[in-house]
Amino acid sequence: MAHQDHRASSTASLARPCGTDSDIAFVGGGFRTTTFLSSAPGLLRRRIRVHERGSTLGPGGFARYGITTTSIGSRFFKHVDLSGPFAAPGRSRTLTDVARAEQPVAMPRLATALTELGRTLQDALGPDGVRLGSTVVAVHAESARQRVTLELADGTRESSRHAVLATGRIERPHPELAPWRAKVLPSGTVISTGHRAEIKDRLLGAAGRPVVIVGCSHSAMSALQTLLLLRAEARAEHPGALLPALQVVRRGPARLVYDSADLARSGQKPGRERLFDPVADVCPATGIVYRDSGLRHESRALYCALWAGEVPGATLLDAPVLADAADRFDRAGLIVQALGYHGQAPDIHLDGALLRSGESPDRLLADDDGALLLNGTPQSLLSVLRVEPTPLDRRDHSVYGSDLYHRLARRLDRLVAPTAEVHA
Ligand SMILES: Cc1cc2nc3c(=O)[nH]c(=O)nc-3n(C[C@H](O)[C@H](O)[C@H](O)COP(=O)(O)OP(=O)(O)OC[C@H]3O[C@@H](n4cnc5c(N)ncnc54)[C@H](O)[C@@H]3O)c2cc1C
Repeated sequence: MAHQDHRASSTASLARPCGTDSDIAFVGGGFRTTTFLSSAPGLLRRRIRVHERGSTLGPGGFARYGITTTSIGSRFFKHVDLSGPFAAPGRSRTLTDVARAEQPVAMPRLATALTELGRTLQDALGPDGVRLGSTVVAVHAESARQRVTLELADGTRESSRHAVLATGRIERPHPELAPWRAKVLPSGTVISTGHRAEIKDRLLGAAGRPVVIVGCSHSAMSALQTLLLLRAEARAEHPGALLPALQVVRRGPARLVYDSADLARSGQKPGRERLFDPVADVCPATGIVYRDSGLRHESRALYCALWAGEVPGATLLDAPVLADAADRFDRAGLIVQALGYHGQAPDIHLDGALLRSGESPDRLLADDDGALLLNGTPQSLLSVLRVEPTPLDRRDHSVYGSDLYHRLARRLDRLVAPTAEVHA
């Protein structure tokens, strides 16, 4: 396999005593880590160790959701080098069908393809390369010793020459929904395959009181899609049961993706959507309007139908400030929060001081080459692999993140020279 070739090519001149458990530790073994490492087989010359909290390397959060992706299938694997160590999954239909798809795919299919890629990566990294069921609770970077210590939930510690945070995102409780917290569910719970029975019970238990979805993004439309489906199932299973109306509360007109400014000009409808600004909202590389933030595919179609009053038992309401919808929240049997995601990360310490707590309200910022920025300073011992959603100011009018994998691979290549001592 190619990684063995890389190993064989490690030379004594590059070797250095390291006294660490790994050269590069990845915290989180989901979509990003798996596709990044599969895109940069040269990095496998280093002793890599991936810490993944869950039981599988590869699918990350995508394993939980029973919806369709926003992106077309091929986008998820666009960086992956399906040669060398990754030739085997490249030949598998499970992966290639998704990797070639020019339309969105069901998330369970994407998760299966990523699991397959993850399995191959695990083989390439060897028995010491992946720690499943391993939660990192804190990261300590020490400039003087040029090393990072990972503090694990089981009380043990591991050291590395560099750490990459690839821990994904979560929905944090939104402060404006605090008064109704007891009946708020995050949209991720509603769309997850593991909660279907519970959500159906909540719809039946609402006893006719409305279910309010707060937000107007892909997550909100995915939650609406799921609730429509579950409500229809509940109706078929319990004829005569009182089932709730669904209300979507939007803070402003949604953004809709258009393939070009011309299509946007001819297709946009004031009131339904936010009219685009040719400077701020158009991607310079593709010409796509609202490339990052806009609704597309099924979510776009559902939103347009909702706005037009064509979705039975569901309505769209405006509340520029959420407090404007307080009466509705009071009456609701269930509130679904779909107001965006926040990066999650362990506590980060630098030279003995806690510089960023995992609870911090601040975004986990990184340079374009993935260097973690702490108080604006790039950290040579720590990197971040697209943990936060695209920053607001870079969303639609700049090509954000498209060369991150390449630049991060180059950065790691430069910062962490291979050691002769690779794991077996
Ligand atoms: C409903 C939904 C739909 C989406 N659709 C799309 C889409 O169509 N296209 C798109 O590009 N993006 C989409 N996204 C965004 C999506 O979250 C990211 O693209 C992708 O999942 C990010 O990969 P990741 O590796 O950062 O996170 P994940 O794949 O979630 O991986 C993070 C991993 O880190 C592990 N982890 C977390 N904390 C720790 C810790 N402390 N220690 C050890 N392990 C840890 C987790 O268990 C997880 O496996 C969607 C997101 C959601 C929620």
